[in-house]
Amino acid sequence: MTDTIYAPATAAGRAAVAVIRVSGPASGEAVRALIGGLPKPRQATLRTLRHDGVAIDDALVLWFQGPASYTGEDAAEFHVHGGRAVVEALLSALSALGLRLAEPGEFTRRAFQHGKLDLAQAEAVGDLIDAETEGQRRQALGQLGGALGRRYDGWRDLLVQALAMLEAAVDFPDEELPEDVAARARPGLETLAVEIDAALADVARGRRVRDGFRIALVGAPNAGKSTLLNALAERDAAIVTATPGTTRDVIEVPLVLGGYKALLADTAGIRETADDIEAEGVRRARAWADEADLRLWVVDAAAFHVKQSEHHAIVRAGDWLVVNKIDLVEPDAVEAIRVQTETLGLHVVSLSAREQGAGPIRAALTEHVVEALSGAEFPAATRIRHAERLGEARAYLQRALAEVDDVELAAEDVRLASRALSRITGRIDPEDVLDRVFSSFCIGK
Ligand code: GDP
Repeated sequence: MTDTIYAPATAAGRAAVAVIRVSGPASGEAVRALIGGLPKPRQATLRTLRHDGVAIDDALVLWFQGPASYTGEDAAEFHVHGGRAVVEALLSALSALGLRLAEPGEFTRRAFQHGKLDLAQAEAVGDLIDAETEGQRRQALGQLGGALGRRYDGWRDLLVQALAMLEAAVDFPDEELPEDVAARARPGLETLAVEIDAALADVARGRRVRDGFRIALVGAPNAGKSTLLNALAERDAAIVTATPGTTRDVIEVPLVLGGYKALLADTAGIRETADDIEAEGVRRARAWADEADLRLWVVDAAAFHVKQSEHHAIVRAGDWLVVNKIDLVEPDAVEAIRVQTETLGLHVVSLSAREQGAGPIRAALTEHVVEALSGAEFPAATRIRHAERLGEARAYLQRALAEVDDVELAAEDVRLASRALSRITGRIDPEDVLDRVFSSFCIGK
């Protein structure tokens, strides 16, 4: 027998309204116990909630008869006044009625189990709750609408068609089938390979929209990295001092640029050092900078010689050279630095972070992030889990294409490719994978 669960759906603390949800077979009984009857399904009804003859609160009660509910089970919502004592009293009453407090993500897990959502949609519910930027919201909403699931279903259809042809060739080798029946599976598989390749190439974009576009500030101590970071963050996130090597670890600051989340990090003045603690900071900083989507190499306009700097080994073509402290130099100094660094293929910007703040660089940075993260379509994958399954499907497909002449082997690989895709939407995933997906949710979702 399935437990009937309850949990507050709204955040803890003082608020005008709190919503408490109930789901499971005993939901109707619980509603009856609290208000003396069942209201019309899916209609807000004002009632006094009572337990043991004592009034708890006047509440809006919503009753959902399964399967027409979020979870697909009988379910109810109580909208009560959002005071702590009111919520506590209702939760105690539900517990006394034999209901159990829900685990994190348990409501959404039940929705998944009853076929209300696929796994990618369930993940999107979590992403939507966590969304802080427009980019995150749009991406999560697209995924919640089933855009991902539909795309995978289309791909699985292609695989099933190919499989049908291969199996026909396996099962009826001597019948009067057209000779090239197995070869006819090829175009569909090739089309799919191209589409999966495109999706894989787009994985980084989906993950960056969700987790943030990573921008690393690199450069010698005292170049002005912390000053620029603080100016971009519009607050004092890093301590600005004139002592070299003060910023020891990686400081990550979240920014919103053009509606997208970005993470900006000051990377501890990457350089040789004898100090162990500083060396660890340098190692982390180097790794962060290496994996970042963009490196801003901040240099002091008054003290720059590319030959004396080790930072040119860290930056790549397309990264930015930020010539700082231009208030200290003649205008032609910037041009001289540009010439010195020309072969590195960097985009050069110059400013005085102390005098001008981040103004001269913010707009360009925003444009860069928007261009990198916006795409015509929703990304096919927003998580490593998705990318791994896509990669697997692609590898099986590759093998199937290589061995189309051996129809039995090819058919088996097509089947495996299809299974890998199914796992993204959770059609055949084992319990432990589901546990992982849902445990990241909050209670009440
Ligand atoms: P970091 O070690 O690269 O993080 O450098 P900081 O941001 O701590 O800056 C080092 C010193 O340079 C501080 O004294 C800053 O006030 C100064 N500084 C930063 N930007 C500028 C600038 O645009 N012009 C001038 N003249 N000084 C600056």
